[in-house]
Amino acid sequence: MPLVLVVDDSQTQRAIISEYLKPLGCDVVLAASGEEALIKVSEQVPDLIIMDVEMPGLNGFESCKAIRGFLQDNWVPIVYLTGRTDPADLVEGLNVGGDAYITKPVHQDVLVAISKAMLRVSSVQSELLKANKKLDEVAHFDALTQVMNRRGYEDMLDRLWKDHDRRNTPLSILLMDIDFFKKYNDGYGHIKGDECLREVAQVLKKELKRPIDVLARYGGEEFVVLLPDTDLEGAKLVGSRFIQAMAKANIPHEFSDAESHVTVSIGAAQKQSDQAPTDLLQTADKALYKAKEAGRNQVIA
Ligand code: GH3
Ligand code: MG
Ligand code: MG
Ligand code: MG
Repeated sequence: MPLVLVVDDSQTQRAIISEYLKPLGCDVVLAASGEEALIKVSEQVPDLIIMDVEMPGLNGFESCKAIRGFLQDNWVPIVYLTGRTDPADLVEGLNVGGDAYITKPVHQDVLVAISKAMLRVSSVQSELLKANKKLDEVAHFDALTQVMNRRGYEDMLDRLWKDHDRRNTPLSILLMDIDFFKKYNDGYGHIKGDECLREVAQVLKKELKRPIDVLARYGGEEFVVLLPDTDLEGAKLVGSRFIQAMAKANIPHEFSDAESHVTVSIGAAQKQSDQAPTDLLQTADKALYKAKEAGRNQVIA
């Protein structure tokens, strides 16, 4: 059921408006001032706000601005219902973020019709927000392995980067690449190859003990792990745990030149203060290359 917030300093007006809104079949919350309206909005975001203009304390325009500021991207229609008939007031009210302007006394049918129209727009808007959120999830998610994808990693690193700069705490990453995976595909076929990628993702994910650590599939058979508040030594430790976990998982790989099971090589790197996020990955990539050169199935920093 939609929720309508009615803001008016006159108790009589609040009663009349609530009565008028009955045909809409919505829940009505009342506020006697702009200040109270802000509290109500912070408690539960309504689907529509009917706003008086002349009120002691925050007037309707100021309240509208404050609510918009508080809700940010979460748009809720705000309809002024006021005794002020000067066109200049209408212009100002809409300019500060209001969506419609009705003057008192209002005919019930007019108030109901405008409220319905606003609720229609507001429901389309919230569907859109939901769809966008879903899209965002899909865009950051790798369907094959059920972990984050490269874009998810990049967005997350960006956020963590700023946070770690501010707090001046260590941030490390591990870049992992499955050893002799081409031979795995050639030997067992691509379907088994995909299955192997899923298994490796699960093995690695299970080794992450802290909920803030992030595993992502960076590309083909490469994974990356973000380790907040972790220095290089800590990162190498996590890397060694991955190597052990892969040995324990023991996914057969009879075509590997390294071991009889699927192994990974890992490059570790810690964020330096003068670096950009891409530099960090490059450092890890260089370490990964060294791990491959040194015989694979190992972590190098
Ligand atoms: P190295 O030990 O040096 O890493 O050898 P490698 O064979 O793993 O490395 P290379 O980069 O030559 O091969 C990566 C292979 O990973 C190529 C491709 O066949 C396979 N691959 C990449 N993405 C996928 C995928 O999504 N599914 C499957 N089945 N295979 C993939
Ligand atoms: Mg008033
Ligand atoms: Mg590779
Ligand atoms: Mg590889």
